[in-house]
Amino acid sequence: MLVKMGVLLEDAREKGYAVAAPGVHDMQSTEAAFQAAKELRAPIVLDVSEHNDMEALADMARFYARRYPEVPAALNLDHGRSFEATVKAVRLGFTSVMIDCSTLSFEENVRITSEVVKMAHAVDVSVEAELGHVGMGSRYEVDRDAALTVPEEAVEFVKQTSVDCLAVAVGTAHGMYSGTPKLDFDRLAKLREMVPVPLVLHGGSSTGDDNLHRAAKTGICKVNLWSDLMIAGTNGMKEFLETGEVKGLGFKPMRMVYDAGAKAYKEAIKHYIKVFDSAGRV
Ligand SMILES: [Zn+2]
Repeated sequence: MLVKMGVLLEDAREKGYAVAAPGVHDMQSTEAAFQAAKELRAPIVLDVSEHNDMEALADMARFYARRYPEVPAALNLDHGRSFEATVKAVRLGFTSVMIDCSTLSFEENVRITSEVVKMAHAVDVSVEAELGHVGMGSRYEVDRDAALTVPEEAVEFVKQTSVDCLAVAVGTAHGMYSGTPKLDFDRLAKLREMVPVPLVLHGGSSTGDDNLHRAAKTGICKVNLWSDLMIAGTNGMKEFLETGEVKGLGFKPMRMVYDAGAKAYKEAIKHYIKVFDSAGRV
C-alpha cells in the first residue's frame, strides 16, 4: 500500500526507530525494496531522484504496492531542486516530495519550501525539506562543520513552512567519506527535543552501523541510503559474472545478472532495516 511519508515517520518518531529509504531506479530495485520490507515486516520509503524515469517508477511503485499490499511504502521524490519538479512528482502520484533549497539563504529556503507545502498539502502529499546542508563525502574533511543544522533555526523553519519532516545536517555526508564520519549526537538530541516534526538523515552510506543505530535512537526517523546499496548490488552482479553458472547456456543472460544484483541490493536494505530497528514494526 502506498501511504503518505509523514504517517510512516510520525510512527517512527513516536516509537524511536528509523525507516530505511533506499534509492530505487528500476523495476528490480523497486521490487527488491518491497521484498526487503515484507520479509522483515518493516515500513519503507522509496526514494526516487529526478535523474531517474519518475513516470515509469511511479507506475512500478503502484504495481508492487498492489503485489505487496502488506507493505506500507511511501514514494518520495528525493532532492527535488525546484518547485516545478515537486509539482511533476505530485502529478505522477508520489506520496511525498523533498524540496532541497539547503544551499540557498534561510529566507529563500523558507519561501520556496512554503510554496511547495501549500501545493502538496492541497492534495495530501507530505513534504520534506533540508536545513543546514549535507555535503559530499569526498569533501568531508573540509566541509563537515560548514553547515550543521542550528536547532533554533530549525524550530523557526518548521514554524514558518509547516513542513512535515526535516533533513538535518549533524555530521553525515553523501557518498563515501574522505576521513572518518563523526556525528554530532548532542546536536541531534537537541533537534529531536526542540523540533516538532520527524528528522531525516541523508548520507547514511558508509556512516557505520553503530553511528546509524545510535542516530535512529537519538531521533532520526528516516535514513537515506544509496551508495552502499549500489556497491552491494554491483558486487552481486560482478560475483555472478565471475563465478555464476548457467547450465546449457554458453553465456550469462542479462536478466540473471540483474537478478543477482537485485538480490544483493535487497540483502543490504535488510541489513539496514535491522540496524535502524524498524523490523517487525508492521
Ligand atoms: Zn541526500
